[in-house]
Amino acid sequence: MTAPVIAIYPGSFDPVTNGHLDIIERGSSIFDQVIVAVLLNVAKEPLFSLADRVAILKEVTRNWHNVEVDTFEGLLVDYAVARKARVILRGIRAVTDFDYEFQMALMNRRMQPQIETVFMMPAEAYSYLSSSLVKEVCALGGSVKGLVPPLVDEYLEKRMPRHRKKQR
Ligand code: ADP
Repeated sequence: MTAPVIAIYPGSFDPVTNGHLDIIERGSSIFDQVIVAVLLNVAKEPLFSLADRVAILKEVTRNWHNVEVDTFEGLLVDYAVARKARVILRGIRAVTDFDYEFQMALMNRRMQPQIETVFMMPAEAYSYLSSSLVKEVCALGGSVKGLVPPLVDEYLEKRMPRHRKKQR
């Protein structure tokens, strides 16, 4: 019997968007298990706390039974080895993502040759979508309905109420 193929989907998820969910769904349909791993990055100043990002991800992925949400810090490949993962899953939106992702994938392979990075493309509707764009649009009073899960919209409403009232 072959071992189950475990994929790690790492990221900041600040906040999770429908683009991330598109990749999680695609990953969960081909890998035995997908671990969504939220990066604890002290250098980046997140809008959402780590606890909030994890709670939101758990809620919005709860219907996918082979998807787990976890956190990690330090080297991704060390975490992948600890979790017995063979795959690092990343989303590619446009050529602009490619250069950085390519560098990271090859550096990770140099450190852990047995781990493969697999890139997946989201539906076109999400190919321009990023967490930072969502935050920017929200801060300026724009609507991000349909681009993030409703739960994230609710959280954004609480965090940026002053700006968002402008649109009503
Ligand atoms: P990071 O700080 O690691 O880039 P993100 O949370 O921004 O963390 O992204 C995590 C992963 O999800 C990355 O592989 C990124 O390319 C991918 N991703 C982000 N937004 C989208 C999207 N709209 N469609 C597909 N993949 C995406």
